[in-house]
Amino acid sequence: MARLNTFPVSVAVKGKRIVIVGGDDEALAKARLAAKTSAEIVVFAPQFEADFSGLEVQLNRRAVEAEDFANAALAFIADHGPDGARARTLARAAGVPVNEVDVPENCDFFTPALVERAPLSIAISTEGDAPVLARLVRARIEAMLSPRLGAVARLAGAMRETATRLLPHGAARRRYYEELVTAPGIEDALAEGRGGEVAKALLARHAAAGAGGGVVWLIGAGPGAEDLLTLRALRLLQEADVIVHDQLVPVAVIEMGRRDAARISVGKAKGHHSFSQAQINTLIVRLAREGKRVARLKSGDPMVFGRAGEEIAALRAAGIGYEVVPGVTAALAAAADTASPVTLRKVSPGMVLATAHGADNTELVHWAALARAGMTLGLYMGKSIAAGVARDLLAQGLGARMPVGIVVNAGRADRVLYAGTLGALARDEIAFVDGPAVILIGEAVAAGDWASAGTMVAETARVA
Ligand code: SAH
Repeated sequence: MARLNTFPVSVAVKGKRIVIVGGDDEALAKARLAAKTSAEIVVFAPQFEADFSGLEVQLNRRAVEAEDFANAALAFIADHGPDGARARTLARAAGVPVNEVDVPENCDFFTPALVERAPLSIAISTEGDAPVLARLVRARIEAMLSPRLGAVARLAGAMRETATRLLPHGAARRRYYEELVTAPGIEDALAEGRGGEVAKALLARHAAAGAGGGVVWLIGAGPGAEDLLTLRALRLLQEADVIVHDQLVPVAVIEMGRRDAARISVGKAKGHHSFSQAQINTLIVRLAREGKRVARLKSGDPMVFGRAGEEIAALRAAGIGYEVVPGVTAALAAAADTASPVTLRKVSPGMVLATAHGADNTELVHWAALARAGMTLGLYMGKSIAAGVARDLLAQGLGARMPVGIVVNAGRADRVLYAGTLGALARDEIAFVDGPAVILIGEAVAAGDWASAGTMVAETARVA
């Protein structure tokens, strides 16, 4: 995984100065940036070629001296000659971080592209790799955020003392702020000078409601690619106080939650039953009773082999509110990966999602009948017993030439495909790569694009 070589922080500059060395356009650009802050901006140059008029900055027609850096927060150096080098040494001696414009190796810090709605600021940086990209991202964010967002942020800030007093519980307070900053009409109310009034009325309502309000969201995380998460899943994940997740949910998705949200892995990976289902049920009920908003994050879709039924029953019995957010289930991610239409006119009238794990003969009789009728079978949890299942289906009368496709790590960049026939799957012991797999069986599977797949008999192929 690529790591950041810089760490974004916001430097406090109130009551301090920002020193700029140089008098040309480079210096002017930095002065403009610095002038967005309340810091005292002092510029030093033997002469000023650029037009600094209109900016609230103090121009000094002389070389910068050591004492000029006293009480400075930052220094920008836009002079690449000996004066600049001297200024750099002086700044560093005074403990002031330096940015030499466009000379990364002489920079202690960088200035990101900035979206500013004071007191809200958003910094966008590519560590110098792609300033053009940073500017495009900035333009998008600018377009997304109301110009009045700063006023909303100030309003939230103004409510802080009262809100802390009336809503001592962190979770309840967070809910209040969330509702305040997203309240429809809040910007208009601010424009009309009624912002404080609206904020206070909302606070009174929240204070009256008390801490309560625990809820459990059963969220489908999809098959493992972050961008297959739904927008709703993302939003609720970011609102949750606690994230309770299964083993199969990738770290990148869990990381999308709030930084201060508690994360609990109830790891139900094969062979690691660290939490029993009963313990998970008890856990989510207890958390919700404490007033927490719980994101119960499951791989794929929560309602497909996700034990959601038991969790929902426990929540209902305890009288706790819940909501289910669908996700892309593994079989459909596999269908997408391989462009396999799981229903296909005149070939497959439907699809069956079934688990191969623990399936007995009566179930197999039905699956075989359904597959014979053209239905596509999507089998979960069957990788380790794939050959046995194939033999049983053959015994139930499915043809040896019935198309079969298997996708390991469906929906992810590291997916691996296997394609062949039921006969081959029954005959050969295939050494599958590690990872969860779905088995698709049916005539419609042959309509997919399995070109990059290894055959059941030959070795496997990796798809980039
Ligand atoms: N709720 C999940 C299924 C959980 S059961 C869903 O809707 O996808 C776990 C089984 O799901 C695994 O044994 C495997 O058969 C399947 N599975 C989960 N993620 C998968 C993936 N990325 N690729 C292929 N199969 C996957």
